[in-house]
Amino acid sequence: MTLLYPLDAELDPEVRLRLLGTKASGLHEITALGLPVPPGFTITTEVGAELRESGKWPEGLADAVRGALEQIERRVDRRFGDPENPLLIAVRSGAPVSMPGMMDTLLNVGLNEQTLAGLASKHANEWFALDAYRRLLQMYGTVVRDIDIDRFQFRLVDLKTKLGRPRMTDSELGIESMQELVASYLSLIEEASGSPFPQDVETQLWDAVRAVFASWDNTRAVRYRRMQNIHGATGTACTIQAMVFGNTGAQSGSGVAFTRNPSNGDKQLYGEYLPKAQGEDLVAGLQTPVPLTARTAAPGKEATSLEEASPGAFKAVSTYCATLERHFGDMQDIEFTIEDGTPYILQTRAANRTAPAAVRVAVDMVREGVLSKEQALMRVDAGSLEQLLQARLPSVGDLAARGVHAAATGLPASPGAASGRIVFDADHAVRSAAEGQDVILVRQETSAEDIHGMKVAKGVVTAAGGMTSHAAVVARGLGKCCVVGCGNIRIDFGERTVRLSEHADPLREGDLLTLDGSTGNIYAGALDLVASATVDELAELMTWADDARRMRVYAEADTPQAARAALSYGAEGVGLCRTERMFFAPDRVFAMQCALLAVEDEQRSHWLGELERAQCDDFVEIFEAMNGRPVTIRLLDRALQELMPEDEPALRALADALDLELDEVTQAAARHRESNPAFGHRGVRAGLTIPGLYDMQLRAMLSAAHKCTERNTAVDLEVLIPMIAFTSEVVALRVVLDRVLARVFTSPTALFRCRVGAMVELPRACLIADELARHTDFFSFGGNDLTQTVLGVSRDDANRFLPCYHNELGLIAADPFTALDARVAEMIGIALRRGKGARADLIAGLCGDQGGSPDSIAVCEKLGLDFVCAPLSQLPGARLAAAQARIR
Ligand code: ADP
Ligand code: MG
Ligand code: MG
Repeated sequence: MTLLYPLDAELDPEVRLRLLGTKASGLHEITALGLPVPPGFTITTEVGAELRESGKWPEGLADAVRGALEQIERRVDRRFGDPENPLLIAVRSGAPVSMPGMMDTLLNVGLNEQTLAGLASKHANEWFALDAYRRLLQMYGTVVRDIDIDRFQFRLVDLKTKLGRPRMTDSELGIESMQELVASYLSLIEEASGSPFPQDVETQLWDAVRAVFASWDNTRAVRYRRMQNIHGATGTACTIQAMVFGNTGAQSGSGVAFTRNPSNGDKQLYGEYLPKAQGEDLVAGLQTPVPLTARTAAPGKEATSLEEASPGAFKAVSTYCATLERHFGDMQDIEFTIEDGTPYILQTRAANRTAPAAVRVAVDMVREGVLSKEQALMRVDAGSLEQLLQARLPSVGDLAARGVHAAATGLPASPGAASGRIVFDADHAVRSAAEGQDVILVRQETSAEDIHGMKVAKGVVTAAGGMTSHAAVVARGLGKCCVVGCGNIRIDFGERTVRLSEHADPLREGDLLTLDGSTGNIYAGALDLVASATVDELAELMTWADDARRMRVYAEADTPQAARAALSYGAEGVGLCRTERMFFAPDRVFAMQCALLAVEDEQRSHWLGELERAQCDDFVEIFEAMNGRPVTIRLLDRALQELMPEDEPALRALADALDLELDEVTQAAARHRESNPAFGHRGVRAGLTIPGLYDMQLRAMLSAAHKCTERNTAVDLEVLIPMIAFTSEVVALRVVLDRVLARVFTSPTALFRCRVGAMVELPRACLIADELARHTDFFSFGGNDLTQTVLGVSRDDANRFLPCYHNELGLIAADPFTALDARVAEMIGIALRRGKGARADLIAGLCGDQGGSPDSIAVCEKLGLDFVCAPLSQLPGARLAAAQARIR
């Protein structure tokens, strides 16, 4: 087992990532580039794993750490625990998967009553030494001794209140106040945990290292991994690094820089800086930072920016940022600290960005010659493109013209817009969202504890924090609209109200609120949203994706409007038009009920005729919209009982229309009730046993196609047969089709293409795929039903246990209804081989909800399917995912 590696060790990148984690790997690269990084070393994930298993440190670790620490001591010419000239260290977490802010880091380790004096005299700055000490005490107390952070915060607020300035910043506290705070924290640690803060620096060090390794298993981290679907990861590594100090004075501070704007992708350095502070202050969002560049400062506040305040340091930071972006070929998120005018880089990683920014940055980097088109395609998260179709608010001008004005304004942290009901905590957000409410989470600031609430909320508002605060970063990652730093809003958590401005009436929990994450504006009440703005670069990226992919991408579209939208999202055709969804309108449901309940043939034909006319009109419009592109229409597939009337007035209306007694209709309706409708009288089973039903649908399709071709609109029709279990079902249906064809067309030659396909969604259908292929032209694998039947899980009832399997027990890695299960994929593979074996030109693809999921699309590429069919909003993502799968 390797125990540790110094930051300047040369290592194979893959080994390095596995043993040292992303953060340390980044530090290695920065070091190798010759940029200023404090020296340090990393204890490997293997040591962490051993500690977890045996509860003991591996042999030789203490000596190895001592040796590596001596190296640092020589490099910076300070000694750990030396009262005259103390070395302070940072003990940092970092795993092979990035989990920003989820695990713990301790700073200023090595301070005690003796070294405190040494540090103060070495820097000729007593305030700074005390500030470093109280930070260590708080971090040690919370991370090692598990004391609630609020207890430290209360003491700090108490002190400020006693001084008569509850809103003063920490850096404004005087030396005496700092001394008081240190004493107060020391006693808090002893009171709360039963033993005093260790004065022995070695104890501090090992306590810190142990806590950092243990933080892999803290609630936040576990919850985060579950949410991000991170499984089987190996635990964290632990980096020990010399401290540099951002809190020594006005020429020091800590900052975060993005090499481009993470909201919109603008190629301009972007970020925030807190003078006279250590880095954790920035992430915590407790104080409002200043911008890095004068350009991004609020009007009149340019002088506060790092660029104006310390031009030399700013220039150096900009140069380092440019170097790092070029080196990694990707937009970076960089943590830095300036100590007495000299900047140090403490971390770099690929920056979290909104979907619009991701698209712009990828396309720009190709234009700049940094990336190839294929590389650029791999840089954009296919799942996030859905955000680009997000709704937004009308422009501020348009709203003003309607007399609508913002009630408060904060920083536009993550774009998009949302309306919803106010909630003040994450648990409440989860409860309300489960009840189907749209909620807006309103917090003073957010922390890792709030993520489950942020995930379900439509939007997030915080009163404090900047553009790189926790709320902002997480919301961008989640694609949620978010407004932070709304300094004027006042939240009263006791009363559970929020005032958007001083004189505004308070809004209560449950009241409506609208936010615009692109402007930072907040409005009381609910405002109507409009369709999304387009990102100019998306079209270009999509043409690259279309060039790179092999599989065709079709849309699910059940209505003419949906078909037109599908075309605008780049669909190559309609892969699934579910005709049962055409019966949602009340008059159509009524006609369908009459047709199903009619006793007399004449009545049945009358109502079927009504339905045929309605369907035919819709099909004509869909064919016209698709203009010669394939349109796959699936014959009715719905549990018939769902179409039956619910209440007495409805039954009475039916009885009137059909000239029957009420109880005759009631009984007829009851005959359609099934105990397990998902596997009952539906699909082709209903089509072959209910006289006239599929005839009607086929007539509607064929006559619509006929009408279109007569008007010179090209038609490419595919008829899809649902729920096939027997080859004979297909044969029987072919007979119906031929009969209808003969009746619709006086001449036997059709002027349009018409193919017949099998919905392959039952295990039996997979196994008879060779026979099916001889009687059909194409297969459409129905992901949902195949998943239901291969797993024996009813989708409608899956929520009773699947979330628990996934989230709590960790028995399955993902929801099989979202990402295709491996065994379902195997089933598809079997069917595909048998089908293609019988008929080489068989076309096959996947439809259902999984058809839009990037993970499933990757599986489809591997299987060698010819197309995927995705829901509308996932079309751009599906095109990109198909390209990525091909490139991989
Ligand atoms: P996280 O994973 O939560 O970002 P980090 O290990 O990056 O944790 O530490 C958090 C913050 O602590 C950093 O942003 C940085 O400002 C500060 N920090 C980390 N290492 C050092 C160091 N060697 N010297 C000074 N500050 C540091
Ligand atoms: Mg960090
Ligand atoms: Mg199905």
